[in-house]
Amino acid sequence: GPDAGGHGPDPVRLTVLAGPTAVGKGTVSADIRARYPQVWLSVSATTRPPRPGEVDGVHYLFVSPEEFDRMVAAGEMLEWAVVHGRHRYGTPRGPVAERLAAGTPTLLEIDLQGARQVRAAVDALGLDAQFVFLSPPSYEELVRRLVGRGTESAEERERRLATAREELAAEQEFDVTIVNDDVTRATDELACVMGVTSTAPQVA
Ligand code: 5GP
Repeated sequence: GPDAGGHGPDPVRLTVLAGPTAVGKGTVSADIRARYPQVWLSVSATTRPPRPGEVDGVHYLFVSPEEFDRMVAAGEMLEWAVVHGRHRYGTPRGPVAERLAAGTPTLLEIDLQGARQVRAAVDALGLDAQFVFLSPPSYEELVRRLVGRGTESAEERERRLATAREELAAEQEFDVTIVNDDVTRATDELACVMGVTSTAPQVA
């Protein structure tokens, strides 16, 4: 918000974290949730089935394709995308608006397509948002994470390398880059960018 009072920049705003596939966005957002409980991490709706250990309403809202259609048609999604050419993922608009109105530092962990949609809509939605790109330490490291154990065909490997190059080029669209060479350090940097400080438990 405006800084009319001269008390320094308002730390409360929407932060969008995105980055290439396999860069570790999920790990960093789980770490920020664990160590910075004052940050609210948006819960996305998805049509993909839950994995073992995932809790409905905590990790995702697991919805049917019909329910996802309904939410989109009703204008309930801030953004949504088909990720990895398969399932749909979207950010429910209402909870984000509520948290921002309450002054809660709010984080969206979404894919690059979703980040572009939020960026395009920021002015229309009256959002004060910053866009953070989570980057691998190097192109080689990203390739290593994507190609994994090397069980893919040469064709599949080529496709993934092309994807990696494209996704890394998206960095220029973002306000801030954080290198994910170490999860704890990357999380602390994200918290710093969000204007929140550690609330480490007091030792008696
Ligand atoms: P996973 O299925 O592994 O949990 O997530 C796959 C991908 O979906 C991740 O890259 C994650 O960033 C993306 N994703 C999760 N929630 C959303 C969302 O609400 N919107 C968009 N656009 N992408 C999302």
